[in-house]
Amino acid sequence: KRTTFKTIDPTTGKELTTYSYMTDDEVEQSIQQSHKAFLQWRTKSVEERGKVIENIGKELQNYKADLAELMTKEMGKLLKQSKQEVDLCTAICDYSAANAPKVFQKEERELSNGGKGIVTYSPIGIIYGIMPWNYPSYQVIRYTIANLMAGNSILLKHASNVTGTALLLKSIFDTAGLPDGLFNVMVIDHDQSNTIIDHELVRGVTLTGSSGAGEKVGELAGKNLKKSVLELGSNDAYLILDDADIATAVEKSVKGRIYNNGETCIAAKRFIATEKVYDKFKEEFVKAMKALTIGDPTAEDTELGPMARKDLRETIHEQVLKSIEKGARLLCGGELMDGDGYYYPATVLDQVSPGQPAYDEELFGPVASLIKAKDDEDAMRIANDSRFGLGGGIFSKDVDKAIKLAEQHFDTGMIFINSFGLAEPAMPFGGVKDSGYGREHGGFGMKEFVNVKSIMIS
Ligand code: NDP
Repeated sequence: KRTTFKTIDPTTGKELTTYSYMTDDEVEQSIQQSHKAFLQWRTKSVEERGKVIENIGKELQNYKADLAELMTKEMGKLLKQSKQEVDLCTAICDYSAANAPKVFQKEERELSNGGKGIVTYSPIGIIYGIMPWNYPSYQVIRYTIANLMAGNSILLKHASNVTGTALLLKSIFDTAGLPDGLFNVMVIDHDQSNTIIDHELVRGVTLTGSSGAGEKVGELAGKNLKKSVLELGSNDAYLILDDADIATAVEKSVKGRIYNNGETCIAAKRFIATEKVYDKFKEEFVKAMKALTIGDPTAEDTELGPMARKDLRETIHEQVLKSIEKGARLLCGGELMDGDGYYYPATVLDQVSPGQPAYDEELFGPVASLIKAKDDEDAMRIANDSRFGLGGGIFSKDVDKAIKLAEQHFDTGMIFINSFGLAEPAMPFGGVKDSGYGREHGGFGMKEFVNVKSIMIS
């Protein structure tokens, strides 16, 4: 059994730090500490909890430069986007602190016997989160803050390649005055992770990551009769309809595909344009993808940095080659780049159809799939022809038509009209089908792991 692991800078391929896995005794101690901290925290008012959360938001700003630099070192995202990520984290803290009193407001009801009923949203205990590396601070903040506001305590198992970010977040939380034991970073392997899900003091499990990890973790949570939230991958479709503004569609589609080096669950991945606009969209889109500046993620003018890990680059390259073998046509990119970093070029495939990885699977990197539809209706049909259902987009000048399509036909959890997907603190975030279940953000995120309690007084 391995006792240590290394993190690697994807820009250079060089080692960053060696970490030791915790011992099983240390894991047990953390669970006990977390439970003890929960028993105190659950008695605090929402307003008291909110003050600490606001402080966390402030401290995140104080540590913005360090945090951004570390995220870029560990997983290669553009430094300017790392800074935007820290700002989003602070916005989530502020939104949560300001809105939690309303979200958790007790409700009074009249009982049939003339007595009084009170409905409360009470915390349930330790919530165990397994988080991915693609937004190393945001993914942690969004479930941690929601659950701390609810009165729960947190055990975090972060993706091993961003362990440094997890530990820095912990020290930021400490500086902000979060009571001891409420937020613990678990540097553990998958077997130890399973023992945490099995543990009787752990009351909920949330995972953001691949569908494969979601299946395993969701199954184990279910076996233990524990609630889980799963935010998994997708192959999000963006519709370019007959009446789309092509310049807007191209600009937003390129940004939506390559933001965060293409490693985003709600990134635009399949672009479905109608026959009427397909050629024009394709021509402009390929031109814009070819013109992107690829290179050092800390340089101000870089638009596309390296992929986060070597194996992730290998996977996407295989998916591209296999798609071409099965009939897709390569319009640009598609070749492994020389050098030490894990760079992959902006790649566009067209003639993408069922049976190809580009159509059936999630391509987590800077690869776009173009698909031609007969008309608006056919575009919608193709978008829904996916086992995933996280996000999606519609480009159309007729916003009412787009809203109707989004509401009545699009089988995903989030739809972006005339733009691309980004997280919003006030808007629920999550998917349907193989993209998982449950919601992050807003009141829905704060109430995922609560005990809706009925107190009846006669
Ligand atoms: P994984 O799903 O394997 O990793 C995400 C997190 O889950 C990590 O913390 C990982 O830990 C953990 N994990 C994975 N399997 C288990 C398990 N059996 N028990 C406990 N924890 C587990 O994703 P990868 O990093 O391998 O990326 C592969 C693909 O997943 C990507 O190409 C992309 O398609 C998708 N993905 C989707 C994301 C999203 O935002 N929805 C985010 C990241 C990836 P550890 O690092 O220790 O293995």
